[in-house]
Amino acid sequence: MSKRVIVIGTGICGLTAAYRLRQKGFDTALLERAERFGGRTKSDYHDGWVDDLGGSLLATTYVEALRLAEEVGLKPMFEDFGGAMQIYIKGVFYDLDMGNPLKAVMNMPFLSWGSKLSLIRLVPTLLKYWSRVNLHNLSGLAELDTESAESFCLKRVTPEAYDRLLNPLTRSMFGHDCNEISVVEMLWMLKTYATAGAVGFKGGMNTFTEALAKGQNILTGHDVQRVEQTASGVVVSARTPQGEVKLEADYCAIASDGKDMQRIYGHALTARQNHFLDKLDYNPLSMVFFKFDIKPEGVGAIVEIPRSEDPDLAALAWYDLWGQTKAPPGKSALIVLGMNSWQYPMYEKPVEERIASARGYLQKYYPHLVEHVVSVGVTPWPRGTTVGRVGNYKRLKDFIADINTTGRVQYGGDYFAQSSIGTAAATGEDLARRMAAAIV
Ligand SMILES: Cc1cc2nc3c(=O)[nH]c(=O)nc-3n(C[C@H](O)[C@H](O)[C@H](O)COP(=O)(O)OP(=O)(O)OC[C@H]3O[C@@H](n4cnc5c(N)ncnc54)[C@H](O)[C@@H]3O)c2cc1C
Repeated sequence: MSKRVIVIGTGICGLTAAYRLRQKGFDTALLERAERFGGRTKSDYHDGWVDDLGGSLLATTYVEALRLAEEVGLKPMFEDFGGAMQIYIKGVFYDLDMGNPLKAVMNMPFLSWGSKLSLIRLVPTLLKYWSRVNLHNLSGLAELDTESAESFCLKRVTPEAYDRLLNPLTRSMFGHDCNEISVVEMLWMLKTYATAGAVGFKGGMNTFTEALAKGQNILTGHDVQRVEQTASGVVVSARTPQGEVKLEADYCAIASDGKDMQRIYGHALTARQNHFLDKLDYNPLSMVFFKFDIKPEGVGAIVEIPRSEDPDLAALAWYDLWGQTKAPPGKSALIVLGMNSWQYPMYEKPVEERIASARGYLQKYYPHLVEHVVSVGVTPWPRGTTVGRVGNYKRLKDFIADINTTGRVQYGGDYFAQSSIGTAAATGEDLARRMAAAIV
C-alpha cells in the first residue's frame, strides 16, 4: 500500500512538494487554512484586467520553478518581461534596460564615470560567492553575513553609485534600504536579477498554481493547529468549519511560512531552530493599485526611487508592462510599493488611509494622471516577504543543520532564502526529496 503524506499549505512550495510526492507514488492530501489554494499568489480577473495580487514574476534564474512550469505544460503560456526600468532623479525619469545590465550602466547619464567604474569592485565578491547563492538555501553565505549591504557597498563603490543605483534597486526589490538588510540579500539580488530576464504567465500566476493543483487532493478550510510525530506515523489536528478533526498519515510535509510552521510544529524543533524562527521577520505588503482609463507614453515597467528623492517610496510598477499582469487595450495600471517604514504603520491603518497616502505619490510623480483614475485596489498580505537582516543567514545555517532528515515531518517554504516563487518551488522540491529519502 502506498504511504500517505499530509502536506500542509497550498502555496507554490506545498503544491510543488505534493506534485513531486505523488509522482514518487505517495498518496497525498493537501490541507489549506484558507478557502482557496495558492497562498501568496492570487490572480483576479474582471473586465479584461488580470490582476496578480501576490507573486507575479519568475526570474529566469528560478530554475526549479521554470522547469516545473514547463513540465506541467506551461511553456506556451510564458510571457517575457524585457526588463525595462526607470530611475527617477530630480524630476527626470531615466530609462534603464536591465535586459542588458552592462550596457545600461555604461549609458547612465546620472552616474559619473568614476561611479560606473567603482561598480567593478563588487565583482570579486560576487564571483567568489556566486555558486553559493542558491534558491533552496542561502545559508552557504553565512560567513559573509556580518555586515549590512550598505556597509559592504560603501567600502567599494562611490556614494553616488550607492544612492542612485544600488540602493534604489535594493529598495524596489525588498522594500528596504541597504542599511537594514544583510549583504547576503544584496548578493542574492545581484545574482538573481542582474544577469537574468523575467517571465510571467499569460493569464497570471493562477495559471501556474492551477496546473500544479490539477488532480491533487486539496482540502481547504482546514486550519492545522498541531502536528505530532508518533512511533508509527503523524497525527495532524485541524480546525474546520465542521469542528476539530484529527487526521493520521505516515508522513507530514509542512509548507507554510516560517511563523506558521513554528506555531504548529515549534514544540518538536530544537532551541536553535526556534531561535531562527523567533527572529524571522516578515514585512507586511500592502500594495495600492491605481487603474487608469488611458495608457501613458514613455513609462517604465518599474520605476526605482532613490532614498534622496523619497524616503518612503520603494518603487512604482506599471503593471501592464511588468510581466503578465495585464490591462485591457488602451488602459493602464500602476502599483505603489512603499518602503517598510511605510508598510509597517500603513498595515495597521484603514484601507482609505493607505489609499490616500498612495495617492500622494501619484500626485507627486504623475500629476497628469490623477484625473484618469478609474478604480483603486489594495492588496493586504500580513506577512508578505521575509526580511534578511544581518545575522539571519547565520541563524539559518543552524536551523538547517538541525533538520532531522530521517524524521516523519519535513518542512520547506520561502524562509530558506529570500522570499520568492523560485525559493518556494526549490524548497518544495527539496522537501519532497528529503521526505522520500526519510522513508524506510
Ligand atoms: C505582494 C507580493 C508580491 C510578490 N512578488 C513576487 C514576484 O513577483 N516574484 C516572486 O518570485 N515572488 C514574489 N513574492 C513572493 C512569493 O509570492 C512568495 O515567496 C511565495 O509565493 C511563497 O510561497 P510558499 O509556498 O512558501 O508560501 P505561501 O504562498 O505563503 O503558502 C503557505 C500556505 O500555507 C497555508 N497555511 C499556513 N498555515 C497553515 C495552517 N496552520 N493550516 C493550513 N494551512 C496553512 C497558508 O494559508 C498558505 O496558503 C511576492 C509576495 C507578495 C506578498
